[in-house]
Amino acid sequence: MNDLWTDTHDEAATGLLDAPVGAETGTASKKLKIEREIHKLEKRLCRQVGQAIIDFNMIEEGDRVMVCVSGGKDSFGLLDILLKLQKRAPINFDIVAVNLDQKQPGFPAHILPEYLSQLGIEYHIETQDTYSIVKKVVAEGKTMCSLCSRLRRGILYRVADELKITKIALGHHRDDMLHTFFLNMFFAGKLKGMPPKLVSDDGGHVVIRPLANVAEKDLIRWAEHRQFPIIPCSLCGSQENLQRQEIKRMVHQWERQYPGRTETMFTALQNVVPSHLMDVKRHDFKGIKITGIADENGDKVFDEEEFSLPSVAGVQLVQL
Ligand code: SF4
Repeated sequence: MNDLWTDTHDEAATGLLDAPVGAETGTASKKLKIEREIHKLEKRLCRQVGQAIIDFNMIEEGDRVMVCVSGGKDSFGLLDILLKLQKRAPINFDIVAVNLDQKQPGFPAHILPEYLSQLGIEYHIETQDTYSIVKKVVAEGKTMCSLCSRLRRGILYRVADELKITKIALGHHRDDMLHTFFLNMFFAGKLKGMPPKLVSDDGGHVVIRPLANVAEKDLIRWAEHRQFPIIPCSLCGSQENLQRQEIKRMVHQWERQYPGRTETMFTALQNVVPSHLMDVKRHDFKGIKITGIADENGDKVFDEEEFSLPSVAGVQLVQL
């Protein structure tokens, strides 16, 4: 049953993926290459979102899932992929797209209703002028994002209640989660990321992040391909948090220098070993006693490194 969430047979069945490369020349061959790449991307997005839904039991039979659509590439992508998965999921669930029009100057209020009407899905546009409140309260030049998101959160919780929503889906992706992890480590002294599923702070809602396994670059490519009518996020005039910008730069730089590092760091978030950290709330260090029983998989005094040792001047270093 679970396979239906991640099964991508229908896309492969178009025959595109099996079409021989080089069968055509010039423009036709280029076009075929792009189509194959897009098919692969679609398969990957569906598989990764389906896997997150299974792994974290994000969506259950009868759920009414509120997809928060801001007009950015991530939330458009989330809605798009969830609608695809809804058709082949082994369970029945509803999708309700919700947008909060915060009355930012220049917000093109017609774009989302038009787009969502064309899709023919259930949607709701909530209009609340949080922009004026934030402008009034936050001193000129200070970042408005923290108050703005707090107000937005409260409104979305109320709307979720009114629409009898059982799950609130947000469009944060793998890179957002990794950046949050480093933000917390560097600026708050905490090993804490952004959870794929949580109970909201008011205790009344389950929030899910179905894009948890998805790379931002794939969402950018998907948005280009689908030509989503993106609404720029800079309308309010507020700058993105400077610390987040710094972290993004750092991760980007690492990835350029050591390709694949982002993926490895993301995998690490799913492989936590509390007995090898120092949090007494997570591991009972005080109560440690000898067991007298040898354990092949037990902790070793000097752990073998789980990565390959570097080589110096072409000579592989040997672990002592
Ligand atoms: S960028 Fe603007 S709209 Fe977005 S959270 Fe910050 S203040 Fe709010």
